[in-house]
Amino acid sequence: MPSRPFVLAETNWKSVKDTPFEVAILPWGATEPHNFHLPYSTDNYETTALAERAAEFAWQKGARVVALPTVPFGVNTGQLDLRLAINMNPSTQLAVLTDVASALSGQGVKKLLILNGHGGNDFKQMIRELQAKVDLFVCTINWWTCIKATDFFDEPGDHAGEMETSIMMSLVPDLLRPLSEAGPGKARKFRVAGLRDGWAWAPRKWRQVTDDTGTGDPKAATAEKGEKFLRAVTERIGGFLVELAAADVKNLYES
Ligand SMILES: [Zn+2]
Repeated sequence: MPSRPFVLAETNWKSVKDTPFEVAILPWGATEPHNFHLPYSTDNYETTALAERAAEFAWQKGARVVALPTVPFGVNTGQLDLRLAINMNPSTQLAVLTDVASALSGQGVKKLLILNGHGGNDFKQMIRELQAKVDLFVCTINWWTCIKATDFFDEPGDHAGEMETSIMMSLVPDLLRPLSEAGPGKARKFRVAGLRDGWAWAPRKWRQVTDDTGTGDPKAATAEKGEKFLRAVTERIGGFLVELAAADVKNLYES
């Protein structure tokens, strides 16, 4: 298979040294259980695939963008009592992000997109802190929010539910256990009304919320739904990359 010039892990100095990359994409996932049937690296498979597909979409339209290797560990402080859920604290993530951004900015890359694939990761406040220190435009997308998942799924779910299961069926079907072995992904709600309704917020203790580590029922998942959704998200993010690559970071606001 020939190397793809928009996937850093596959490309080489021969190709990179003369390519004026405008945007780097940093996919960021997590390593955690996903119900009984999906692999621990579900967020990493999904986010890597979307970063690479979106980069390809933009590259074909002439935008010089590159997908960096995926950071495989996310914030999982609420899952530390689940075996082999690996937590990376927000303060550690900021240190990692600062190093990556500093390297890129020193090399003349002008823009960085953090493509987030895990609900426990939140890069907004980190970017506010980082942006004042580096000469590089930094932005973030939570990929599951950039199009309406309810247009594609009966009940998308938020962790190992119909959406994630469909995506994984389409990407790496051999890594899934049969749906008959999956739990129902039933999530217990907070007793306190504000927290239950979402206008007050606190992180959830995962083991107390769900019995199978899933939140969202995977039973209606199909590979076809997953592929359709992936294509729509790819176009959305790919289109954003084209526009971002062409944007002048000193002139970002309408007149
Ligand atoms: Zn996930």
